[in-house]
Amino acid sequence: MCVLVFLCEFWYNVFVMKLSRRDVLKISGVGFVAMSMLPRVAFASRNSVLSLRTGVQPNGKTRLVIETSGRPSYDISYPQNQLVISLANTSVGGVSPKLSGDTLIKNLTQVQNGDKLNIVADLRRSIAPIDKSQVMILSPNGDNEYRLVFDFVAGASNTVSNGTTASVANQPAKKYVIVIDAGHGGKDPGCIGKGGTREKVVVLSVAKKLKKELDAIGFKTYLTRSGDTFLKLAERAEIAEKRHADLFLSLHANANPSRSTKGYSVYTLSEKASDEEAQKLAETENAVDKIGVSGFSEFSKEIRVALSALQQRAVAELSEEYAADCARAMDNASIDRLPGPSIRHAPFAVLRSTVPGALIELGHLSNAAEEKLLKSDTHQNKLVRAIVKSVKNYNFDV
Ligand SMILES: [Zn+2]
Repeated sequence: MCVLVFLCEFWYNVFVMKLSRRDVLKISGVGFVAMSMLPRVAFASRNSVLSLRTGVQPNGKTRLVIETSGRPSYDISYPQNQLVISLANTSVGGVSPKLSGDTLIKNLTQVQNGDKLNIVADLRRSIAPIDKSQVMILSPNGDNEYRLVFDFVAGASNTVSNGTTASVANQPAKKYVIVIDAGHGGKDPGCIGKGGTREKVVVLSVAKKLKKELDAIGFKTYLTRSGDTFLKLAERAEIAEKRHADLFLSLHANANPSRSTKGYSVYTLSEKASDEEAQKLAETENAVDKIGVSGFSEFSKEIRVALSALQQRAVAELSEEYAADCARAMDNASIDRLPGPSIRHAPFAVLRSTVPGALIELGHLSNAAEEKLLKSDTHQNKLVRAIVKSVKNYNFDV
């Protein structure tokens, strides 16, 4: 009986509630075949849980996200070393929780209790009651349905809002902040194409277009530079910190001694470069500030203090996720990719912050055909559309 209810519920979730692709992939092939043979059962107005996930916020807080098909109504209780969220008029879904290893949550179980569904989180350490100001109910957007979001830390401080994660329930979804960094500027032209196109000009043009598009769909964006000005790399990273950015995008264009080399590439920060090419690129991009490429020791002191090992991992994971979205969107838009891995890693100074992000080399100015493209409005718009898509796909919640 239990199994039947579970499968029917899942069938309902998949085909009526449009379960996310990620959740559907969790179903084993056998389960899926069994499900599809069952008749469709209507579960009227009952709310259901579509996904459960945990993660670490860049500020170190544990985040628990419960995605539901309808607006959730909830109560919280705190039995010993547990956090229990009781969802009214909700039935158990077939979703398995997606747990990140570094949070305060050891384990998540779903327990049906009459018409209530209890989400029981086993905690590694005890927590103080979570103030309502630390709980968000986000309305559906893009691929997400309603999300009930809890942010908390161990110990006794879940009552004070720090302004970065708190939002009162029933308020509209948080506006995500994106800092767009047009590389180089002022005395530093970046690389220069054979036809004289300067990297600093191309990337500023793309950055401005990108800002306009992202603002138009509800993001809050800032440019590190809006004119032909010189900024140190650390200053660019600090702008992202000061703005409490959710995502940092650094735009560049590449050059290669081989004129036939072309294509975009996406990079995230790592202590070691993924390949010789990436290492060389980091050296070139860092050269303006004469910053070594030896890794995390090059973080500014304040940032080093702020960046615990835990946060570094969280930022790295989120950056990887974004970079994958970005490469996919560029590929889907049929923009040429530099042969090799879709995401590369290198110790870029500009990415050294607590904000997840990526450095995007939009193409090669050293390639005559691509230099022409990079100058053109049509191609710049194509690049912007792909990046906008990647930002929309990026999961800002966890
Ligand atoms: Zn550059």
